[in-house]
Amino acid sequence: MDDKEKLYNSGVLVEHCEGAVLPPAEEWKKKRGGYVIVECPQRIPCNPCATVCPSGAIVPHADINDTPEIDYAKCTGCGICVARCPGLACFVADLTYSDESAVLKLPYELLPLPGKGEVVKCLSRTGDVVADGEVISVSEPLKDCTHVVSIVIPKNLVDDIRSIKVVR
Ligand code: SF4
Ligand code: SF4
Repeated sequence: MDDKEKLYNSGVLVEHCEGAVLPPAEEWKKKRGGYVIVECPQRIPCNPCATVCPSGAIVPHADINDTPEIDYAKCTGCGICVARCPGLACFVADLTYSDESAVLKLPYELLPLPGKGEVVKCLSRTGDVVADGEVISVSEPLKDCTHVVSIVIPKNLVDDIRSIKVVR
């Protein structure tokens, strides 16, 4: 079974599956504010990521079914696409936070909402707890009630952490 068959059968992205978009490694290390990561490898009729991006970093889709392409020279790390993607497929990672830590902005649609300063469990794509993370901000939701939670995570897990769990 190849990566795409695994994805379509499980719903879980296999690492670096064709169509998932990661920032260029060297520029990413130095980019204050971070860059977007888009994990949307399946052709589906969807394009809010491209239409809401204020800087045109997500290239307008020629066909509504296109998978996203990113012009990283234009990405500011603003996180608007994180809040507006209905597939919860956009993330922003800032690798400049400290030597050991990164900030990950991820979409969150569950309750309870975490609060600033709270320590949450960081989950892998398959829902396994892989680390603790400290919440540093929670955005007000846009139209569709998706919050964007910014958490400080171990930098070496930036490719693995894709969700959080609030434990009280
Ligand atoms: S983080 Fe902001 S600038 Fe970057 S792709 Fe998303 S909406 Fe565009
Ligand atoms: S909005 Fe999200 S699900 Fe839709 S095409 Fe963009 S990244 Fe994929």
